[in-house]
Amino acid sequence: MYAMALSARGAPLTLQQRPDPVPSPGEVRVKVSACGVCRTDLHVVDGELPDVSYPIIPGHEVVGRIDALGAGVNALELGMRVGVPWLGFTCGECIYCRADKENLCDRPEFTGYTRDGGFASHLIANARYCFPLGEHGEDADLSPLLCAGLIGWRSLVMAGDGETLGIYGFGAAGHIVAQVANSQGRKVYAFTREGDKEAQQLALSLGADWAGASEDIPPTELDAAIIYAPVGALVPLALRAVRKGGRVVCAGIHMSDIPTFPYRILWGERQIVSVANLTRKDGIDFLAAAAKIDIQTHTTVFPLVETNEALARLRDGKLTGAAVLRP
Ligand SMILES: [Zn+2]
Ligand SMILES: [Zn+2]
Repeated sequence: MYAMALSARGAPLTLQQRPDPVPSPGEVRVKVSACGVCRTDLHVVDGELPDVSYPIIPGHEVVGRIDALGAGVNALELGMRVGVPWLGFTCGECIYCRADKENLCDRPEFTGYTRDGGFASHLIANARYCFPLGEHGEDADLSPLLCAGLIGWRSLVMAGDGETLGIYGFGAAGHIVAQVANSQGRKVYAFTREGDKEAQQLALSLGADWAGASEDIPPTELDAAIIYAPVGALVPLALRAVRKGGRVVCAGIHMSDIPTFPYRILWGERQIVSVANLTRKDGIDFLAAAAKIDIQTHTTVFPLVETNEALARLRDGKLTGAAVLRP
């Protein structure tokens, strides 16, 4: 197998050849056909998440086919197309796992962070955390659903069922969630970096009612807002945009510090909440919903060897939609 691996904090990823991995009991080997690039990959590469053990192969929006089965795997078959998401393993025993909150597990493993991920020709995954994807749709188009879509879904559920929804940071997750929210009859207000006409155009073409800069006041009060950009300064901006009783959902795994803000913009029973990881049920629910509304993902495909270029484009905000790597 070969992979783009990270050997040190902040280093460029390098192409490495390794022996083909062999799945242990309960695991499968997946031959990767596409792997989306998520902002969390940037946080891993940039050392913004703790306890990375090098070398690590990032990537957790994996679409591929099973090409080896470990002992005892019955639910999946050779040749089956599957998705491998961020959640790679949970303990099943901690208070969170026992309360159906495996996204908060005390002893989790995460694909592309604590176990090798999909910026590679092959990866090993625990069979119980893979999602069968069926045969509808292109591999590259499906890959952003595996994190941008899944975390987007969880954050949308967390936002409640209000009618007017703000989306701050209209990238991979935002453009998927906007389509889901639309299908539910909600009105979407898309906030982008100032002057990012491409993202604003994309938002409007996907049915957003309004698109503007993050500093803009939307034409109506929002019932909820979801923040996908890793920018703490967006929290007070979003708080000012939501109505009394409204909720601001921070959907990222890492964010720059939140600046101080006057208590009165939180008062009125506004809430700030965060979203962490996903549960397998989120995946099952979201993929079923996604199939019904036939989500269109906007992707820019890079060959795997151009992983560093894809990461740089994401870091610089020079991508519209989602980046996808192909081995
Ligand atoms: Zn647990
Ligand atoms: Zn992700």
